[in-house]
Amino acid sequence: MQEEAKEPVARHIPSKDLYQTLNLDLKEEALGESEFETILKSLVLATPRTATKGFFNQLFGGRNEHAILGELLAVVLNNSMYTYKAAGAQIGVEKVLTRKVCDLIGWGKNSDGTFAPGGSMTNFMSMLMARDQTNKSVRKEGMQDKMVVYTSAESHYSIPKNAAFCGIGRENVRYVSTDEEGRILAADLEELIEKDIASGFIPALVNLTAGTTVLGAFDPIRPISTICKKHKIWLHVDGAYCGSVLFSKKYKHLIDGIEEVDSFSFNAHKMLGTPLSCSLILVKDKAHLYDSFSNDASYLYQTDQDEFNPGKTSLQCGRRNDALKFWTLWKSVGTSGLERIVDVQFELADVARDYIRKNKDYTLYSYDESIGICFNYKGIPAKDICTLLHEHSELMVGYGSFNGTEFIRLVTINAQNHPSDILDFFKILEQFVEDHAELFQAHITT
Ligand SMILES: *Cc1c(COP(=O)(O)O)cnc(C)c1O
Repeated sequence: MQEEAKEPVARHIPSKDLYQTLNLDLKEEALGESEFETILKSLVLATPRTATKGFFNQLFGGRNEHAILGELLAVVLNNSMYTYKAAGAQIGVEKVLTRKVCDLIGWGKNSDGTFAPGGSMTNFMSMLMARDQTNKSVRKEGMQDKMVVYTSAESHYSIPKNAAFCGIGRENVRYVSTDEEGRILAADLEELIEKDIASGFIPALVNLTAGTTVLGAFDPIRPISTICKKHKIWLHVDGAYCGSVLFSKKYKHLIDGIEEVDSFSFNAHKMLGTPLSCSLILVKDKAHLYDSFSNDASYLYQTDQDEFNPGKTSLQCGRRNDALKFWTLWKSVGTSGLERIVDVQFELADVARDYIRKNKDYTLYSYDESIGICFNYKGIPAKDICTLLHEHSELMVGYGSFNGTEFIRLVTINAQNHPSDILDFFKILEQFVEDHAELFQAHITT
C-alpha cells in the first residue's frame, strides 16, 4: 500500500522479459521461508496496481474495504454455493441480495436472480433463457431452428461469443446501428426483425446495453420493450458496466423502463467497486431460470426446497461465494451509500469533461451522463500516447474508437478518487507529452 501511494503505476515489465525478470518457475524442492517471502514480494510489487489513482485502464478500480472484508471471509469459509446443506446461512445472503435488487427494479415475487462468474456469463445465461423460451425442446433435442439475436454495434463482444456457445451462431447476430451518441436505433431494430421474420428466421433475443464499453451510452429501454412485446422476443439489458445506476435516484432514469425487460444483469465489481467478480442476473419470471439451468442430480440435491438450492438455477456446479462481498458492502454503507458511490463517478466524469471542454488542446468525443470520457490531446494518436504512458509507468489508460475515430478513454469508475486525482491525470499526461516531445513531434497539431 505504501508502494502504491509512492508509485501508482508498477514498473512496467515488457512481456518478452517477464520470465527473466521474475522468479516464477516451479521446482522439485521446497523453498526456504525467507526466499519465498522475497520472491512473493517482488511478484506483488511487479503486479499492475488497479486500486491507485494511476489506473484508468478498464471498467473497474479502487479497493473498497467493506467489500474486501466479505471477499476475505468468503475465501476463508470456502463454501460452495449450490446447496443449503453446503453453504447454509450464506444462501440467505445471496437470496436477500437478489430479492432486494428485484424490488429496486420494481418486479414482483415471481422475480429472482443469481450470481454468475462475470458479465459475459450473465449475458450467456440471458441468451440461453431466450433460446429455451423460443423453442422449449432445444435443451433436449439440440438446436433445429434458425434463431437470430439483435444487439447494437456498440455492445460487448460477449454477445457474438455467446451466440457461438449456445448454437445460435455468430453469423446470426444482427448488429443494429446507433445514433451519434452510440445508442441503438429502435426503428432500425424493428426493420431488421421484420426482414428476418419474412426470410424464415426466428428472433430470439434483443440485447440492450446500459453503459456501452467505449462511450458509456445507455440504449433506450422503453421503445425497444414495446417492439419486443409485439414480436414476443426476450429482452435483456446488459448493465455489466453501468447497470448500477439502479442504485442512484439521480441516474436511474438512464435505465428508464427496466421493469419492462425479461432479464437484467450488472457487475457489482465495476461501478460498485467490489473485488472481481461479482455479477448478478435478475429475471422477471424465475421459472425461466429453472427451465434453462436445472438438472437432476440426486448425489447433490439431498435436502431443502429448490428455493434454498441455487445450484438448480446456475450455470456451473461448484460456485464461489460472490454474494458475501456485495452484502458486507451494502449492509455497512446502506443503499444510500451505494447511491453515493454511483453519483461520485458521474461527478468525477463531469470534472474531466469540464477540464477538456475548457482546454483547446483537447477534443472531446463523448457525451454527458457517461463515466467514459473519450478525448484526444493535441491530435496525437491515442494508441501512441496510451502505450507510451504505460511503458514509462506513468498512467494506465486505454483507447477505443467510435465511427472510425480513435481516442483515449478515461474511465472515472473508481469512486475513491477525488476531483484532484482526475486533474492530476491530465497534468501527468500533459507533462509526459512535454517531456517526450521528440516522441510526439511528428503528430502534434497546435
Ligand atoms: C465488462 C462488460 C461485460 C463483461 O463482463 P465480465 O465480468 O468482464 O465478463 C459485458 N458487457 C459489458 C457492457 C461490459 O462492460
